[in-house]
Amino acid sequence: MTGPSRAGSRGACLLAALILSASAVLSGCERSEGAGRESGQALHAPGDSGAGGQAGLERVADPVLAKRSENSLQATARTMNGKQVVTNPDAVTVVVNKQRSLPEGYAPPDLVEPDVPFTFDGHHEKRQLRKEAAAALERLFAGASQAGLELRAVSGYRSYERQQAVYGQHVRTKGAEEAARVSAVPGTSEHQTGLTMDVSSPSVGNVLGAVFGSSEEGRWLAAHAAEYGFIVRYPNGMESVTGYVYEPWHIRYIGTDLAPDIARSGLALEDYFDEANMKL
Ligand SMILES: [Zn+2]
Repeated sequence: MTGPSRAGSRGACLLAALILSASAVLSGCERSEGAGRESGQALHAPGDSGAGGQAGLERVADPVLAKRSENSLQATARTMNGKQVVTNPDAVTVVVNKQRSLPEGYAPPDLVEPDVPFTFDGHHEKRQLRKEAAAALERLFAGASQAGLELRAVSGYRSYERQQAVYGQHVRTKGAEEAARVSAVPGTSEHQTGLTMDVSSPSVGNVLGAVFGSSEEGRWLAAHAAEYGFIVRYPNGMESVTGYVYEPWHIRYIGTDLAPDIARSGLALEDYFDEANMKL
């Protein structure tokens, strides 16, 4: 991992390669300093916003591939004190894992409570998700309901402070090694992004376990989550990539544009956003 501006300009270069055919633009990218994600968001060549003329120079962009490139692992983290910290914590595409931490003290800007049935009553921070993810979860639950299935929300947002308490409890009861396997070091839990909800079903006693994955509800979720913008974040057999064992209950909002593409790719989120796996 190189420094932030280097990674950022690399991401911008990839994006430019997607959109523009002119080789002069690519060589220009190699020299640009501090070209960050923002500059990469322009979907049109500079100067073509006016009346016609240059449209012939522009290729049709693949917006999904462009977004994937713009949000690559390499373009969205910097090294601080020997650890990787994400530079896009508010993006719905953020990739947080054991190697990629949220910035210290991060809390999502727009937490709300989705109007879905939970496994518990009363107020708790874990009822919350970010606004966009909460609306998508409501649609997902409505879809399951229309299919005659009952889902329950179990646990969503988890603050840094509560993750600290959860992790500490695992360390005390299981030891540090096993704790790291089943839980997340504070700052590295995807639940802290507000984009994740653990779900289950009364048909399996609302447990978070492999049994949910083989239930009718779990199979429906695996097949249909992407239509609502969610992915099953820790797929079976990908522990070496994600750092977590199979969790059929842990769904992550990433948007209705990318989720179906990720599901089709069969890749874990880490591999999907690795520049090495993007064919440009
Ligand atoms: Zn979870």
